[in-house]
Amino acid sequence: MKRIYMDHSATTPVAPEVLAAMLPYFGEKFGNASSLHRSGREAKEALEDSREKVAALLGARAEEIIFTSGGTESDNLALKGIARKNRKLGKHIITTQIEHPAILETCRALEKEGFEVTYLPVTGEGLVELSTLEASIRPDTILISVMHANNEVGTIQPLEEIGRLAAERDIYLHSDAVQSVGKIPVNVDDLGVDLLSLSAHKLYGPKGVGALYIRKGTKLESIIQGGGHERRLRSGTENISGIVGLARAAELAERDMPREAERLAGLRDRLAELVLGKVKDAWINGTMKKRLPGNLNFGFKYVEGESLLLFLDSKGICVSTGSACSSHKLEPSHVLMSLGLKAEECHGSLRITLGMSNTLDEVEYVAESIVEAVERFRGISALGR
Ligand SMILES: *Cc1c(COP(=O)(O)O)cnc(C)c1O
Repeated sequence: MKRIYMDHSATTPVAPEVLAAMLPYFGEKFGNASSLHRSGREAKEALEDSREKVAALLGARAEEIIFTSGGTESDNLALKGIARKNRKLGKHIITTQIEHPAILETCRALEKEGFEVTYLPVTGEGLVELSTLEASIRPDTILISVMHANNEVGTIQPLEEIGRLAAERDIYLHSDAVQSVGKIPVNVDDLGVDLLSLSAHKLYGPKGVGALYIRKGTKLESIIQGGGHERRLRSGTENISGIVGLARAAELAERDMPREAERLAGLRDRLAELVLGKVKDAWINGTMKKRLPGNLNFGFKYVEGESLLLFLDSKGICVSTGSACSSHKLEPSHVLMSLGLKAEECHGSLRITLGMSNTLDEVEYVAESIVEAVERFRGISALGR
């Protein structure tokens, strides 16, 4: 059976060009970037060349990029690193209720260290309100962390405005941009961020590698001690093959983004139209206005998202309910709950995230399959009609 992959917010396949760029670093170019000999210099050159390429995608300077093991580590380094370094200036951190667990759980850990965290609510569309954010700022606020685009509902936050607010008050601004980098323009100066997390496997790069942008002059503590790699901020022999893969993925994203974003938005809108035109008591979670090009999150009354997912899986279609991270749990998605949905409405949610390989034919097939699945499960449910 042909597999139709529509779960690109969970992870993406490694692009063939990315794999090709990485392969030599598993073979003859195996050097350690810290070694002084020819092999080491070759690795060091690849490392610094990659740093330039990743920086270019963000409008940053190469020396502002630190390579990490992925989005989770970047988020941990940003939050713990800033909080611990700036403890004397204040103990208050502001974030949102709809962040990825990499942020939320890090904040909970920081609370145990004595920091105080405000978890901002969002509107029904999933947007942070500037007035609410402004009202939550205290004299001892040291850090604001707001994700750029949400992994479940694709909502894009007004980071530029938040950036201005944070800058006026001299508060560090971090953004988890794992879902937006490579999909929509992300320029660190336009957004006004001091720190920004990204992950290779969400933009057709390999798993287990990412980066943290750190604006020049920003002081933070390392969370991993060792040989002092990456400007003493992230010790450990650099994952050169992974970093080269991330850099190639960044180049491809820059090249393809405008065209691909428009194509995906077209497919997304078509899928929404096809499904909502045929299924009653169905809606889109989040907003269609400020949304990632490839993201759709349906809500269906009287059906379980899990049942839909398994039915679609039997037809070779890969999608998700809520988010991949919480799909093994039975609790409703914290993101959808924050958007104001009732628990039973969350359970009927289906996230579809389109990417490079998806075509209009696939969208039409998936739409038909969703309609078929909803009708079938409503037919056998007592509440369904
Ligand atoms: C995937 C994801 C992460 C975690 O990135 P990893 O590289 O998988 O650790 C963090 N934040 C968001 C928004 C994500 O989508």
